[in-house]
Amino acid sequence: MKILIAGIGAMGGSFAHKLSNKHKIVAIDTWQENVKKINENGLTVVDLGEKIINKNIKAYMLEEYKEKADLIIIFVKSMLLETMLENLKPNIGDNTKVLCMLNGLGHIQTLKKYIKAENIVIGISLITASLKSAGSIALTSYAYNEISGLNEKGRENAKMVAKLITDCGLPTNFVNDVKEAIWEKACVNGVFNSLSTILDLRLGEFRDLPRLEHILKEIIEEFHKIALFEGVDFDKNKAFEKVYRCTQKGYQGEFHYPSMHQDLRQHGRKTEIDFLNGYISEKGKEYGEKTPYCDLITFEIKALERKLIK
Ligand code: NAD
Repeated sequence: MKILIAGIGAMGGSFAHKLSNKHKIVAIDTWQENVKKINENGLTVVDLGEKIINKNIKAYMLEEYKEKADLIIIFVKSMLLETMLENLKPNIGDNTKVLCMLNGLGHIQTLKKYIKAENIVIGISLITASLKSAGSIALTSYAYNEISGLNEKGRENAKMVAKLITDCGLPTNFVNDVKEAIWEKACVNGVFNSLSTILDLRLGEFRDLPRLEHILKEIIEEFHKIALFEGVDFDKNKAFEKVYRCTQKGYQGEFHYPSMHQDLRQHGRKTEIDFLNGYISEKGKEYGEKTPYCDLITFEIKALERKLIK
């Protein structure tokens, strides 16, 4: 099975590393220094604290690699998905499956522009990883992935992909419908990625703030209104539980800053806001629904981006 990892940062690197135990892995990326380091020294992976140098991954710059793949796993940031798909055209054959587990909303529509519906595999990843420097990543927790397809044939393809990834050591569940899970995860990210970045707070520092529950529920309500317009009725209470849990004592990320905070406040990089609260805000305008919380959150993140992006 020829597997192409499109975007070899924290998550792409983690998947490339684990899948390279059993498969031939090629990666493409937009970051020259990263590609150079991986090819010259191997990918350095700190896998739950254990340092490993993986020399089984061959990396190319985006436009350099033209061969068809059996499976493509995309792990760029959401704002680069469309550019990546444009560049992947030579690598996508009639039977190439494309797996996308990016955070955020609206990706299915983008994927459908480039890939036959039956070949699209979508989902969420609860695995966590971080990028240390070019050619160096840390896999920090294994949790699990949840994936599905968009139609009957797509679900068969998703089952095959779930087994392939699980067999390489990354637990991946096939589920009949993953859209609700995608929206619930977007709620978690739409609340705490954004608020932690705006307020410069760790997750646990939100605990016991006055009106916290009310604010969280209002934001989730806005996500839910838009989800209904898009044919998804996720469980608001379940989403609230998942969001609220992040602030509680004993939650493993209690002392962490979410990835948007790391991207913007720590590294001066653009955020995925347009695919989280920004998506809700834009769709609200389109569907004639008021989304004041997401409008304000998006406005504030964009103001910070203007100030902090290097
Ligand atoms: P990442 O920033 O580590 O890597 C994404 C891409 O950005 C890669 O192609 C990488 O090479 C490039 N990149 C990174 N730093 C760069 C730099 N300084 N200069 C130029 N290019 C650079 O992102 P990620 O954490 O792998 O996230 C990919 C997707 O997966 C996102 O949608 C994210 O929200 C989602 N996700 C991440 C995690 C996680 O724990 N990291 C978990 C679940 C989902």
